[in-house]
Amino acid sequence: MLDGVTPRIGVLALQGDVREHTHALAACGAEPVAVRRESELAAVDGLVLPGGESTAISKLLEVFELLEPLRQRLRDGMPAYGSCAGMILLANEVLDTRPDMHTLNGIDMTVRRNAFGRQVDSFETDLEFAGLDDGPVRAVFIRAPWVERAGADVEVLARVPSGPAAGTIVAVRQGNVLATSFHPEVTGDLRVHRLFVETLVRPRAGV
Ligand code: GLN
Repeated sequence: MLDGVTPRIGVLALQGDVREHTHALAACGAEPVAVRRESELAAVDGLVLPGGESTAISKLLEVFELLEPLRQRLRDGMPAYGSCAGMILLANEVLDTRPDMHTLNGIDMTVRRNAFGRQVDSFETDLEFAGLDDGPVRAVFIRAPWVERAGADVEVLARVPSGPAAGTIVAVRQGNVLATSFHPEVTGDLRVHRLFVETLVRPRAGV
């Protein structure tokens, strides 16, 4: 419970690690709700787009007739958080994907799928994350995307600290839409989810 308000936060439940996000949101004091239909989307205050397979989720958004309603809610300013495949879907441009993949245009950025290459296909590292002051965040990357271009209104929240991909952008926010290349839902560290839940309780100015 935050400031006496319990936000209803949807988890897009078409494919991917829905359960882990559901648990993390509940542990933050939000009310998680599975979203598979338009009526469920209409009833939530914000939405988490989980990790999974972005091209599959894109296809299912079409099949479940959620693509346009979701784009519309994002245009109307609904807060959203995407991890990994969810980050890819929130971008307005995606590289190394299928030509028929849909994007949701939630963040003005170009994202490259499966960007880290074979040797570091999946890896973990500790990141400094802007706005989270009590120590680095353990970041788990699983065939993760990176952000190749962040638009002028996009805040960069975290970059890979070292190694071959040092400096690469892996967490961003534009208004009330947040995205990470990595999966905080699998580490038990709730700070990124809390940051998102707080945007529903205290929306950021100017959006
Ligand atoms: N590689 C996946 C994709 O393109 C994302 C992986 C993930 O979400 N862990 O959708």
